[in-house]
Amino acid sequence: MVDFRLTEEQKALVDLARKFGNAEIRPIAARHDESHEFPHDVFKKALDLGLLNVNIPVEYGGTGMTLMDECLINEELGAACPGIAASMEVNNLSNWPIVLGGSPEIKKKYLPKINEGWKGAYALTEPEAGSDVAGIQSFAKKDGDGYVLNGSKQFITNGSVADFYCVFAYTDKSVRYGGMSCFLVERAWDGVRVGKKEDKMGQRASDTCSMSFEDVRIPKTHLLGNEGDGFKIAMHVFDHSRPAISAIAVGCARRAMEESIRFASERRAFGKPISELQAVSFMIADMAVSIDASRLLVWQAASMMDQGIRNSKQAAFAKVFAADTAMKVTTDAVQVFGGYGYSREYPVEKLMRDAKIFQIYEGTSQIQRVIIGREIFHSK
Ligand SMILES: Cc1cc2nc3c(=O)[nH]c(=O)nc-3n(C[C@H](O)[C@H](O)[C@H](O)COP(=O)(O)OP(=O)(O)OC[C@H]3O[C@@H](n4cnc5c(N)ncnc54)[C@H](O)[C@@H]3O)c2cc1C
Repeated sequence: MVDFRLTEEQKALVDLARKFGNAEIRPIAARHDESHEFPHDVFKKALDLGLLNVNIPVEYGGTGMTLMDECLINEELGAACPGIAASMEVNNLSNWPIVLGGSPEIKKKYLPKINEGWKGAYALTEPEAGSDVAGIQSFAKKDGDGYVLNGSKQFITNGSVADFYCVFAYTDKSVRYGGMSCFLVERAWDGVRVGKKEDKMGQRASDTCSMSFEDVRIPKTHLLGNEGDGFKIAMHVFDHSRPAISAIAVGCARRAMEESIRFASERRAFGKPISELQAVSFMIADMAVSIDASRLLVWQAASMMDQGIRNSKQAAFAKVFAADTAMKVTTDAVQVFGGYGYSREYPVEKLMRDAKIFQIYEGTSQIQRVIIGREIFHSK
């Protein structure tokens, strides 16, 4: 039997995240969109309530929540502000390489610091390599009892506010995938430089910047996993992070639909509410169907991960469908609002700008289809 009902604990978690989103995020979302400021206060309050870093295991002082729980939280935060939710999720995803590949000493040293408020960033993309992950140029050269890292990174979420980075770099350039490694790098170390902050179309409350690493000395203890495990770690993190990010896209789309329903019930044309015009109600009906379908794909991918079942294909299903749905629903929401939809006084134009990036980061919609095609035709 497949049971789509949430447990009492999960319902309470959804309620907590929804109240937090309504009270702490919605009122400030437009201001942060305008000012491009990072919401430090929201992070602090979310941490205190147990809504941040939810993937840190209990033995290291975390809540050890499942990916399903994380997705439930993310949908609510995404409905409040997709940009703030995405920044919070990147904090979670930056913990994964440590959880997956950190030695017991590294976990004991860093996970409690993260629980106390250290922020993280995940530095994979480079100026010349995004979709083509194996095309990165950063290199960590073995040197005595550690490594010396050189390279540039691009579009790093939380980059300018992070205390630590999970950085991907080659340790052996003669092997395309198997020569990549992952390192934990502290912000305070010599040679770590934060570059230009991007002036973005949407998700402007999240911080995105370029970075460079110039002769950064990394102790060998800070290699996560073994030399050559970097690509494997990056792919494993995607299997977690794609459902989690997709849940934010579901929240973004759901909020746009809720705003559309409210507006369509109040706005009148030709002597009746526009909700009674079939063209409008059909747009909203299509929103409702595709949002539910997205959520079910997210839950499927998350629950497979929680059961230890390989979910790469289902994570890509969730990502491509939820991202494309968020873009379509928010665009239609602007349409339902008519001229008011195009005005900054109403919330839907922001949601439309926020939605676009779901089709780009964490693997573009084209790359998700590449993965799905590969899984269909080449997976044994
Ligand atoms: C706001 C924001 C936040 C981000 N946060 C992070 C972060 O925290 N950490 C991080 O490491 N990265 C981050 N990224 C980077 C993001 O993951 C990449 O931008 C994304 O993977 C696409 O890479 P690219 O920009 O180099 O585009 P490209 O890879 O150059 O792609 C350009 C176009 O070509 C298409 N394309 C490329 N290859 C193929 C193919 N094989 N088949 C079909 N189509 C293809 C793409 O779909 C796209 O349409 C972020 C980006 C943004 C904009």
